[in-house]
Amino acid sequence: MENNVIVYTSQGCPYCKKVKEQLTAWGIPFEERNVSENYEYFEELQQKKIFGTPATYINNKLVLGFQEAKMRKLLNLPDDFEAPKTEAASQAKNGEIQDESGIFQSVDQKILDEVYDFVTIGGGPAGASAAVYAARGRLKTLVIDKAPAAGTLAITHKIANYPGVREELTGLELLQRMQAQAHDFGATFVRTNVLSVDFSDPEIKKLEVAEGTIKAKSVFIAVGAKAPSSKIKGEEEFTGRGVSYCSTCDAAFFQDRTVIVTGDNEEAVHEAESLSKFCKEVRFLIPTGTLKGQADLSKLETKDNVKIYKKYRVKEILGENSVEKAVIQTDQKELETWDIDGVFLYLAGMKPGTDFLKDAVSRDIEGYVNVDDMLQTNVPGVFAGGDARRTPIKQAVLSAADGAIAALGADAYVNNRSQLRPQYS
Ligand SMILES: Cc1cc2nc3c(=O)[nH]c(=O)nc-3n(C[C@H](O)[C@H](O)[C@H](O)COP(=O)(O)OP(=O)(O)OC[C@H]3O[C@@H](n4cnc5c(N)ncnc54)[C@H](O)[C@@H]3O)c2cc1C
Repeated sequence: MENNVIVYTSQGCPYCKKVKEQLTAWGIPFEERNVSENYEYFEELQQKKIFGTPATYINNKLVLGFQEAKMRKLLNLPDDFEAPKTEAASQAKNGEIQDESGIFQSVDQKILDEVYDFVTIGGGPAGASAAVYAARGRLKTLVIDKAPAAGTLAITHKIANYPGVREELTGLELLQRMQAQAHDFGATFVRTNVLSVDFSDPEIKKLEVAEGTIKAKSVFIAVGAKAPSSKIKGEEEFTGRGVSYCSTCDAAFFQDRTVIVTGDNEEAVHEAESLSKFCKEVRFLIPTGTLKGQADLSKLETKDNVKIYKKYRVKEILGENSVEKAVIQTDQKELETWDIDGVFLYLAGMKPGTDFLKDAVSRDIEGYVNVDDMLQTNVPGVFAGGDARRTPIKQAVLSAADGAIAALGADAYVNNRSQLRPQYS
């Protein structure tokens, strides 16, 4: 049976892109209805009480957000489904659509046969910068990334503080510049997930991926740190029906409405600012009472339709078909129920993605990799940096600096030198 698939998308919505890429990779034709370009589509969704994109209808069944397993199930695709070899499908499979840059390739036998001088697990700013230095230092360099457009920098929608970059860039654009630079110096990029590692052989470190074993003389662990998956009661149920994570995607659905924005980071502040241009009222809840990093409230404080609540938390989200109320814990630890139309969540608590390392290297109680001043772990030739090691501040420029240090350390290790050799000119 031919599937009937309709994807409602909006401009600048990263999850819409993922849905389209996944369908393309599976070779499933779909009709795209862009709500930012066509007001009729926008109204269609509102009538269905859907206040977010992507909203995908597969044979009249709705999937909100990017849910690969649910889409697969509704399309009746078996787990071992092999997409037909159309050009678009193979492009998507190779990550060329998602990565746009076309730098990432899939793991082939040639890659599995090679012994790389330097392999970085993670192609974020730490991994990409390390690859620039390593490849330029003539190390045979491989960058492995499981989801090049989903790392912390890649999903940051605006970078304003990366030195030397004055124009407005998205995190992904900045990252792709770094990756392209490393690629120009000869680094190879593959898209796959490192499932486990074996560092027991001091000469050849082994990285297990679904396609086989990748071999390296030195390794840089640059897997970043992401949010834990603890959810607010009602969050999952109302995602796309008033719960959102992206004002660029969904702000228009909340024109003249009242929304909660909650978080304690720069992104939350920025999103509250954007929403204040659309909404009747934005209630900005800072659960911890203080903002992280460089985020500041000065602009928000000047807006008449923004109210700031410190030490207030969203405990539960309630409604019939869409969000109608939220249960709030106040700064006095009392519970209140507010009438609201939407909840925008930016509660990114950091947790390093290092579980796959198990005991191969020493990690602290929260999973951050322990390193010395030169970012070497307890295993000679294995380095770690960026958000995957414990740092007081998490910023792209610091991760990039870590990449440089690790690559120079790896260069000394691989070439059996006792001194680091800086790269001038
Ligand atoms: C909301 C938000 C806004 C931010 N804004 C700014 C800002 O304005 N300016 C700034 O300087 N910094 C900002 N940061 C911080 C910055 O994004 C991070 O410090 C930086 O991206 C960390 O770099 P990284 O390379 O260590 O990790 P990441 O950027 O997270 O990259 C890690 C990569 O590793 C890959 N990976 C993970 N596990 C595996 C595996 N097992 N196998 C293969 N690949 C794997 C991931 O797919 C990912 O691409 C922001 C962070 C957040 C959360």
